[in-house]
Amino acid sequence: MTTLVLVLGDQLSLSLSSLRAADPASAIVLMVEVAEEASYVRHHRRKLAYILSAMRHHAEALRDAGWTVDYVPLEAAHGPASFTGEVAAAVERHKPDRLLVTEAGEWRVQAMLESWQTLFGVPVEILTDDRFIASHADFHSWANGRSDLVMEYFYREQRVRTGLLLTDGGKPEGGRWNYDKENRKPAESDLFMPEPPCFPADAITREFIALVQRRFQDLLGDLDEWDLAVTRGDALTAQAAFLDQALCSFGDYQDAMVSGAHRMWHSHLSPYLNSGLLDPLELYREFEARYRAGTVPLNCAEGFIRQIIGWREYMRGIYWLAGPDYVDRNFFGSTRGLPSFYWTGETDMNCMAQVLEQTWRYAYAHHIQRLMVTGNFALLIGADPNAVHLWYMEVYLDAYEWVTLPNTLGMSQFGDGGLVGTKPYVSTGQYINRMSDYCGGCRYDVKQRVGPDACPFNSLYWDFLARNRDKLGANRRMRNAYASWDRFGVDTQEKVRAKAAEVIAGLDEAPYGPGPGDQG
Ligand SMILES: Cc1cc2nc3c(=O)[nH]c(=O)nc-3n(C[C@H](O)[C@H](O)[C@H](O)COP(=O)(O)OP(=O)(O)OC[C@H]3O[C@@H](n4cnc5c(N)ncnc54)[C@H](O)[C@@H]3O)c2cc1C
Ligand code: SF4
Repeated sequence: MTTLVLVLGDQLSLSLSSLRAADPASAIVLMVEVAEEASYVRHHRRKLAYILSAMRHHAEALRDAGWTVDYVPLEAAHGPASFTGEVAAAVERHKPDRLLVTEAGEWRVQAMLESWQTLFGVPVEILTDDRFIASHADFHSWANGRSDLVMEYFYREQRVRTGLLLTDGGKPEGGRWNYDKENRKPAESDLFMPEPPCFPADAITREFIALVQRRFQDLLGDLDEWDLAVTRGDALTAQAAFLDQALCSFGDYQDAMVSGAHRMWHSHLSPYLNSGLLDPLELYREFEARYRAGTVPLNCAEGFIRQIIGWREYMRGIYWLAGPDYVDRNFFGSTRGLPSFYWTGETDMNCMAQVLEQTWRYAYAHHIQRLMVTGNFALLIGADPNAVHLWYMEVYLDAYEWVTLPNTLGMSQFGDGGLVGTKPYVSTGQYINRMSDYCGGCRYDVKQRVGPDACPFNSLYWDFLARNRDKLGANRRMRNAYASWDRFGVDTQEKVRAKAAEVIAGLDEAPYGPGPGDQG
């Protein structure tokens, strides 16, 4: 009996459920580099090279582990360059008795997997992705009957489900579930920042860098300064370095932003977790062990674990709960395209320029840069949440629809009207000034609301509140903001709104459509 096991590009885990259900002696693992997948979003070039190289290295790791691998490289497409076309060709080649695959990470690909049994006339078994603690059914039963889906309660249930950082009596270690209050300090640029390991490009990675440069010329993003792990071994080295050097300051400085510093105390592990090189379950156990051994304080361990078993799993749960049309939600009815400086980085706003420069250089920005700089600005100007989502899908190394969409359309753009967040994440320039050193080097004055030097975030923030009062006025968490706006008086309000209109009129709109991507 021949089993064909399909391993997708974000399933680069040796302990994947589909592999565990197959026998290396009689199974063939199929991996395909599909042009359709490489170009359905205009990926950052670094992201494309990373995924292709990590896939190729994973195929080698599978062979080393005793699997027979049928690997279809990009240049050797059989017939139409699509997933389904490649699987059809492989079914023809190997005549399997069954197809095994771990469930997909997004609706579009899951629909493809579900169509194959009928299409190919071969039984297709789709297995649960147990790299996540909460299955789709677990999240549905948690969400069922709740009026609001507050992450904190989901997180507590995840702690109980795993037993992580719990006492023998099932209570949270230290008596509290959440140590967030002790975190979130601004950072100074002269603080010691850890130097994470760099992984120079090997021959396979260099081949993909050249291929991406040659074949995807219209895509943007730097490929210089390659430092990414593309094997599980190197990703584990990156994980260990984070735990040893940065974890204890992660909580303190997770919201801080410093000019020219993109790594800071963040883990940079999301690309490895999301593509499968790292196993989140192993990571949790490592934290737990370090906490129990007394080498990691409780607030550090709890702060980081919350990000992964809490936020990461919660976002995945929301994505599958909300359904395939979540992507079309647009609570504010916003229609603007993003300004072209999101692609060029050419803007006088120093905060935006800093984050965009780093984004196009490294395909990385940390959470607060994504939420309170680029996301904040997009929401304030009334950008179409779907266009914003596509931009985030395009530029970040860790972008996969299941995690990008709820973060972008939900958390950042409030496009779902409050499924993810209880209020929109918007602010004036004051927040950015408090958490960063960006304003000191900016041509605008963060203290001014109107006038030629006024920080654009200031007028835009108040204008956003005024123009969306019908939708937000009754929100309890917005009450103080509206009370402040009402105290401005009509004359000031008019000036501020006129300034916001001037800022918006000065922005162009970059057309967004399917990019040319693959030049064939
Ligand atoms: C607008 C917007 C878009 C985002 N898009 C993505 C995305 O495409 N892919 C992605 O993995 N994350 C996304 N995030 C969440 C978060 O910004 C990134 O996970 C984080 O910046 C990755 O960098 P890091 O590994 O250094 O994370 P750290 O700051 O070191 O955090 C540790 C880990 O926690 C997890 N995590 C923390 N917050 C979240 C969250 N809100 N959602 C999911 N995981 C979380 C990640 O796995 C991350 O590696 C987005 C956030 C926003 C506001
Ligand atoms: S002054 Fe305004 S635009 Fe300039 S860096 Fe500060 S927040 Fe950004």
